[in-house]
Amino acid sequence: MLQAIEKEKVLEKETIENKNFIKNKSRAWISINKDNLLHNVEEIHTIMPDTCKLMAVVKANAYGHGSIMIASLLNKTGIRNFAVATMQEGIELRLNGIKGDILVLGYTEPSLAEELSQYGLTQTIVDYHYGRELNSKGIPLKVQIKIDTGMHRLGFLAEETEEIISIFKAKNLKVTGIFTHLSTADSLREADITFTKGQIDRFYTLLAQLKLRKIQVPVHIQSTYGLLNYNGLNCDYARIGIGMYGSLSSAQDKTIIQPDIRPVLSLHSRVALIRNITDGESVGYGRAYCCDGNRTIAVIAIGYGDGYPRSLSDGKAEVIIKGVKVPIVGRICMDQLIVDITGAEGIHSGDIATLIGKEEKESITAGEVSDKAGTIANELLCRLGNRLPRIYV
Ligand SMILES: *Cc1c(COP(=O)(O)O)cnc(C)c1O
Repeated sequence: MLQAIEKEKVLEKETIENKNFIKNKSRAWISINKDNLLHNVEEIHTIMPDTCKLMAVVKANAYGHGSIMIASLLNKTGIRNFAVATMQEGIELRLNGIKGDILVLGYTEPSLAEELSQYGLTQTIVDYHYGRELNSKGIPLKVQIKIDTGMHRLGFLAEETEEIISIFKAKNLKVTGIFTHLSTADSLREADITFTKGQIDRFYTLLAQLKLRKIQVPVHIQSTYGLLNYNGLNCDYARIGIGMYGSLSSAQDKTIIQPDIRPVLSLHSRVALIRNITDGESVGYGRAYCCDGNRTIAVIAIGYGDGYPRSLSDGKAEVIIKGVKVPIVGRICMDQLIVDITGAEGIHSGDIATLIGKEEKESITAGEVSDKAGTIANELLCRLGNRLPRIYV
């Protein structure tokens, strides 16, 4: 498998998509604003207590932003703590020279202990059984212990004190941290706040128990919403994903701390052609858009095959062309979509269409698009595909 990854790397280097002169002429691409990323990192640092460090969450290709580039940029600013979801994501970072601790948040088959060790990854212990099995492989590993304080996804129950202590005593496991995850930190409803406070209490109660047994390791609880809504918790790290990329999950969300974060990613495509459609004619699959009157449409060279949600068909979303918002009409195709530009002046084939981002006075955020698509910005961003070259400006 490692050979396959290395081979893939070579192939990737050779693809024309990777050559900048082609990238800049792409039919569709992602633009990553490095200044905004660094600004957000600084802003997050001002929100965190001084003793708390940023653990940059770069899973799922850094939420579509390109994990190698993002992690490299962060490495350069001195960030040494990363979180990924899978071992493969961690290996990819290591093969590309990323330094510091890389925590694998999700499950890794225990028989891959050798690879975890070889690439210096820190594995999350997801429960007692898993910890025993990983220890039994006889390979010294760095691990962190996940505690289930109410989300009921991964983790030891906070009451399983003896089982947790047994992991600290395990011969091959070096525990470098202990953490939990809040399941409803984004909600400011009273019942959800009560629930979250219960999660936090359960975690600190466990820590107090461990302290009585002379066990003390770095701890972390908060992700983006945890940091913004439950600020000031005594933690060594905060695991920040979506906020670092300059977005909230939904444009509707209100948080107690409202950080000055700026979108890092924008999504662009080009006008392939423009055509006039006469009254009563239809456009695209299923004849879903029937022209009422004479219309002018533009075909845009991006589709759901690039990760732009098909659920935004039939006028649910807009794109910006030449500083004007125009609606998507008909059904979004795998590789193309159609916008109605009737009345807009001076649009030509080759012009840039902005699907997420700012253009002149208009802007469209990932949160707005994802709300319309019935999802969250996290999903929208991380699904933006590999067919889109990423340009770092
Ligand atoms: C994805 C993830 C995060 C990051 O969450 P954001 O809301 O994007 O900041 C933090 N912790 C865990 C366990 C995660 O899975």
